[in-house]
Amino acid sequence: MRGYSKAAFGRRMDQMARLNNRSHKGLTIEESQLKYDELVKQVDEELERYFDANGYYPERMRATHPVAYTEGFNKEKPSDMSPSANVLEGNLQRPPLTTLEGATWLIDYNAMQLLARYEDFEIESRSAKEWRMLEREYVKRADYTIMDFYDDFRTAMEVPGSALTWVDYRRERKKLRKCKCKFCLNYFPIEEGSMFIRKRVRRSDSLYCTAGCKQMQMDANKEFRRTSEIYENGTYLPVYAYKTTTEDHERREMEKWEIPIENMDDYEDEKVGKSAI
Ligand SMILES: [Zn+2]
Repeated sequence: MRGYSKAAFGRRMDQMARLNNRSHKGLTIEESQLKYDELVKQVDEELERYFDANGYYPERMRATHPVAYTEGFNKEKPSDMSPSANVLEGNLQRPPLTTLEGATWLIDYNAMQLLARYEDFEIESRSAKEWRMLEREYVKRADYTIMDFYDDFRTAMEVPGSALTWVDYRRERKKLRKCKCKFCLNYFPIEEGSMFIRKRVRRSDSLYCTAGCKQMQMDANKEFRRTSEIYENGTYLPVYAYKTTTEDHERREMEKWEIPIENMDDYEDEKVGKSAI
């Protein structure tokens, strides 16, 4: 059987990483799926080749940092898995491609890209009805809602000796106004003498509970106009409210993949010396 060294495996993984380190942006779902399936197949084949040649899979990463034992820490004999269980997060974010984590991570990255394509497609074709539903669920402010007012009034009514009636409820209700901002459920006073809200009374023609809400609504309107141009149906929601993979996130992911070529020396395996592929 032909040998397959750790160094050769590392080089092969690096080659695949270079071919697959691009965001899937711009690909159709079918193209993205194909690219992903092909990569999984290739990595799988390399792992099997490695196993066939060596009788074991590529090594797992190990924790190399010194462990700071705290007082009373149970220094049990570690199990076989424990050295791999405590690898520093920073190292896991960029695992060497000679390790199993490296191979897994390469697949993970592409799976994430594929999922992002599915998500993009769903966003672009979402119906207006679905957008309105998502917008209703997106609440940024709810300091004092109509339910709070209702609860306050019920409580005041139930105090022994209270003479409050539903006529009073309506009178009190009229002293309040619902904020016009889509993402705010607040009621604010527009008349003096509200029983429950001690906030500053705003002008009777006020639309928003705060200047922040006015700004939020203006931004939402702008976002609706922008998304109406690029999606089948526009939305008032800010992008981060419905999209998990932002451009910035993708950029950072790609930067992580820039593997300095000089690091390839780390993959050299003195015993085998030459690549088997
Ligand atoms: Zn508001």
